[in-house]
Amino acid sequence: MPRTNYTANPEFLNHIPKCDLHLHLDGSIRPDTLFELAQKYKVKLPAKTKAELNTKLFKDKYESLAEYLRPFLYTTQVLQTPEALERCSYELAKDNIDEGVYYIEVRFAPQLHVNENLDIAQVMLAVDMGLRRAKEEYNNSAACRKEGRPEFEYGIIACAMRKFTADYSKYYADLYRMHPYLEEKQLYRMASQDLVEAMVHIKRKFGVQVVGFDLAGEEKGYPAGHHQDAFDLAQRHFLKKTVHAGEAYGPESIFQAITDLKADRIGHGYYLFEAGSIKDENIIDKELFVRDLAQYIADRRITIEVCLTSNLQTNPKIGSLKNHAFRKMLEANLSTTLCTDNRTVSHTTPAKEIALAIDAFDLSPEKLKNIIIYGFKRSFFFGSYPEKRAYVRKIIDHYEATERQFKGRTK
Ligand SMILES: [Zn+2]
Repeated sequence: MPRTNYTANPEFLNHIPKCDLHLHLDGSIRPDTLFELAQKYKVKLPAKTKAELNTKLFKDKYESLAEYLRPFLYTTQVLQTPEALERCSYELAKDNIDEGVYYIEVRFAPQLHVNENLDIAQVMLAVDMGLRRAKEEYNNSAACRKEGRPEFEYGIIACAMRKFTADYSKYYADLYRMHPYLEEKQLYRMASQDLVEAMVHIKRKFGVQVVGFDLAGEEKGYPAGHHQDAFDLAQRHFLKKTVHAGEAYGPESIFQAITDLKADRIGHGYYLFEAGSIKDENIIDKELFVRDLAQYIADRRITIEVCLTSNLQTNPKIGSLKNHAFRKMLEANLSTTLCTDNRTVSHTTPAKEIALAIDAFDLSPEKLKNIIIYGFKRSFFFGSYPEKRAYVRKIIDHYEATERQFKGRTK
């Protein structure tokens, strides 16, 4: 790739319309809010002050995936009431709006938040209410109306879990108690199907903006196939599908996501090109398999939700962004979108991820614009298709107006 020597003006990056399609609610709580809620709900944190929390628990660098996942132990514990869920969802939308991020898809596993006092519909309603409140406040504000900025829109993605144990939450404990003789994989299947059923019902009955279904958690030893029935059901109800795959396991995991689960998008896809990590002995020509897989994904426009900072943090052996598979994804012309994964746990924002990508991969202004607009196009937009088209048109117009506004100052 020829060097463009393009370094974006941070002001320009703040102004252009951005989206975030891979964004975990429980990884994106404001540290101050976590601190306050922990005091309120008597959750013991590994820090004595707010400042300490933001260096001890949430870091720039982590030693391992296990360390990266540690903050979730605490964030899920405070997100056990409608008030906490509503507040954190509201603040998440607001933080994004303040940064010119006009479209977000917030994902989380609702079953982790079900307890004696909270059923799954209440969990979903609380999150939807928080996001909706931020949306309405901003869309009716003078800033949005007078300055002709795009409106804020959102969708919610429910995550099924590849692996869980009884101590993950009250829901899972009950599931184990009710079915003591079932094999684990049967429990995984049952929980995922149950979740799809609940999401379809909650969307229909309450108008909660559920747009998609996801599969998250440990890949190795927990194949996508366990969740095939659930994803078939999601498909039959026209829920869109994204799957965490190739984050910590090889190309076979991505293959399973697009064949067994018919994923519309792939979360991470980091190991897509790692022919050497293929373990399936039936795949004789591993290089050819990887090439065909990448071709298929490119041709079908299955979008990869790329999370640069998060990948470096959970796979410290990548070392530098220069070694990140995003370079090969760009060369193969894959459909990609830049996402944060977890704003708080990863200490990042969409603008930061974009700046990192520009620096490490020499993205030209044209390429950058394509990637950003494509994210909006590949979103699981809640409204009708004509509404989505009109919205994307507005985003493009705003992007181009920003380019004119920063003419000569985009670097
Ligand atoms: Zn994720």
